[in-house]
Amino acid sequence: MLRQFELLEKIKSYDPQANEDMINRAYVFAMKAHGSQKRASGDPYFSHPIEVAGILTRYKVDTATIVTALLHDTIEDTAATYDEISKQFNEEIARLVDGVTKLTRISFVSDQAKQAENFRKFLLAMSEDIRVLLVKLADRLHNMQTLKHVKKAETRQRIALETMEIYAPLAERIGMGEIKNELEDLAFAELNPDARKSVVRRLDFLRQHGEGLVERIIDGLRKLSAKSGIEAEIHGREKTAHSIWQKMQRNDVGFEQLADIMAFRIIVGSIDDCYRMLGVIHGAYRTVPGRFKDYISTPKPNGYRSLHTGVFGPENHRIELQIRTQEMHEIAENGVAAHWNYKDGGRPDAARQDGPQYRWLRELLEILETAPNPEEFLEHTKLEMFKDQVFCFTPRGDLINLPRGATPVDFAYAVHSEIGDSCVGAKINGRMMPLRTELRNGDQVEVITSKAQTPSPTWDRFVVTGKARAHIRRFVRTQERDQYHSLGRSMLQRAFKETGYEFTEKGLSGVLKTFSQPSVEDLAAQVGAGHITARAVAEAVYPGLKNQPRNDKVVPLGKSRGTAKAGSAGAIPIKGLIPGMAMHFPNCCHPLPGDRIVGIVTTGRGVTIHTIDCDKLEQYNNEPERWLDVGWDNNAGDGGSRVGRVAVTVANTPGSLGDLSTIIAKNGGNITNLKITDRQLDFFDMLIDIEVKNVKHLADIIAALRASTAINTVDRARG
Ligand code: MN
Repeated sequence: MLRQFELLEKIKSYDPQANEDMINRAYVFAMKAHGSQKRASGDPYFSHPIEVAGILTRYKVDTATIVTALLHDTIEDTAATYDEISKQFNEEIARLVDGVTKLTRISFVSDQAKQAENFRKFLLAMSEDIRVLLVKLADRLHNMQTLKHVKKAETRQRIALETMEIYAPLAERIGMGEIKNELEDLAFAELNPDARKSVVRRLDFLRQHGEGLVERIIDGLRKLSAKSGIEAEIHGREKTAHSIWQKMQRNDVGFEQLADIMAFRIIVGSIDDCYRMLGVIHGAYRTVPGRFKDYISTPKPNGYRSLHTGVFGPENHRIELQIRTQEMHEIAENGVAAHWNYKDGGRPDAARQDGPQYRWLRELLEILETAPNPEEFLEHTKLEMFKDQVFCFTPRGDLINLPRGATPVDFAYAVHSEIGDSCVGAKINGRMMPLRTELRNGDQVEVITSKAQTPSPTWDRFVVTGKARAHIRRFVRTQERDQYHSLGRSMLQRAFKETGYEFTEKGLSGVLKTFSQPSVEDLAAQVGAGHITARAVAEAVYPGLKNQPRNDKVVPLGKSRGTAKAGSAGAIPIKGLIPGMAMHFPNCCHPLPGDRIVGIVTTGRGVTIHTIDCDKLEQYNNEPERWLDVGWDNNAGDGGSRVGRVAVTVANTPGSLGDLSTIIAKNGGNITNLKITDRQLDFFDMLIDIEVKNVKHLADIIAALRASTAINTVDRARG
């Protein structure tokens, strides 16, 4: 275990100005906080934060980062609080420790979608300060170094997998190549120990048989650089087992000799020297085609710069070479951390303004925060397969994974069916937004619910998830059925009353088979929906009815559109028509006895009867010869009934449709057709066709409807 003075020595070696007092206080604070806690290895828990701080000294980080490393597990694993840390240290430290704690609380599970979700959460959380991520990576590195002590194989696998898929790529993205390699190799050892063993065995074999080879190659390169007069440091480095394994899997190049798995590095003093050295190498050795890459003029997105080339070098061995300056080398190894520039008195905040690493981070964050287009971000990651999804948060921070195009209603149903059913509004990122708003990655959605709310059929037009759609449709079907049921029941009761027979449930149960209905409710709903007439049900229950004349002549709306013969039996008596002339009632104005009417002679269809104020008449203004002066024959006695149409707005409350039909029935009207034209949350608009004797009869019914509280507006419908 790293001791206090050793840690301080390491820090002082690169940062003589480090706040020794604060580091010492953090050391004591963490030691007290963790007390007698133990690691899986049996070591005192406190050894862990110290090792993490020790790892970070490699990157020459500032005092705040060291202190954060020492305290990083105190909020999560001990009784220490944010406020306490803020008071004993400062707000900055408390914020950093809190940031690491947030990352720690993210639990990755092995299924991939979940990992992606958490990966996002992870990125969002880290956005506050890059130092949080540095501490987290060092924390993960130490946990991986001590992974073998974790007893449960399942836990080890999970940690190794998330290291391989989340942390190692992340370290690479911020340019920390060394940490990436270490993490990857440690994870590889856990995830695929056999593969790793075979690679290591092969390496051992090559080392034994290639004795001196690497040294001879380095020697050859040194002589070359000395002759050219360019000052250079030359290293040979073995690739990691994992990168060799990847190479083997890609079947790129076989490795027969040690040189194949070595990377040779030439570090020179300036960019100029890089290109000069390249010229010298290419002048001395034959190049391997296709291996030259200039990452100096075109750096990698993570800021990596170097010249890469492959040559048949000393002793004609095929080798790979990287040529770079010291600065480039440090950035390649330490990435973001290499930008801690103490010489210029730079703070991390200042460093954040420049350097490609930070640009990458900034761009990433911009995409995450504002992007209409997260594909751009996802493109270069493993998460490509998730780009048709959006990830949103509940106010508690839970992630909800939805398909692209999802709305707050989808979100609500994804959280819970009941929340969906009772959803009345939504706050997106704290602002009230329409329920049809398309959600974006990272949105925080707060669903506002009301017990009185029910799903709206209009939601069906914008929801995209199957769950939301199914719930809305089921609700609408049930609601419709309920309404048709209560309407049908009152229609049936009235039909039975008219015949003088008794209306009984039992009677209805007896004829269910005749109408192929499973229950009395369904039968009533069918009557209410207009699929079965009430009279037909009455006749089925009391077959004797069939031979009885009906009190009222019932002419369904459909029939009134047909033609009737003037003066023929059952026809509507209209004065001014030649007996036998075809007469037609159009569907525009529904003339009723009592209305002032005109007849229009129409080719092939006889005479059409309109009310005098019907809009349709305008088109005949220039053809006076087609107009017929007609009127109702009041002397023709009971001429039967006609169908009038009313437009009604009724409150969407239980029983309102029942009230409506009762009022109409009480006033001697017979509903022949009913059509809901608009359904809002609180009101229905509908058109009702009512059989009435004449216009006065209809006016009476309208007056009675207007008197009812359940009914908002009633008007005679024109057209
Ligand atoms: Mn830790």
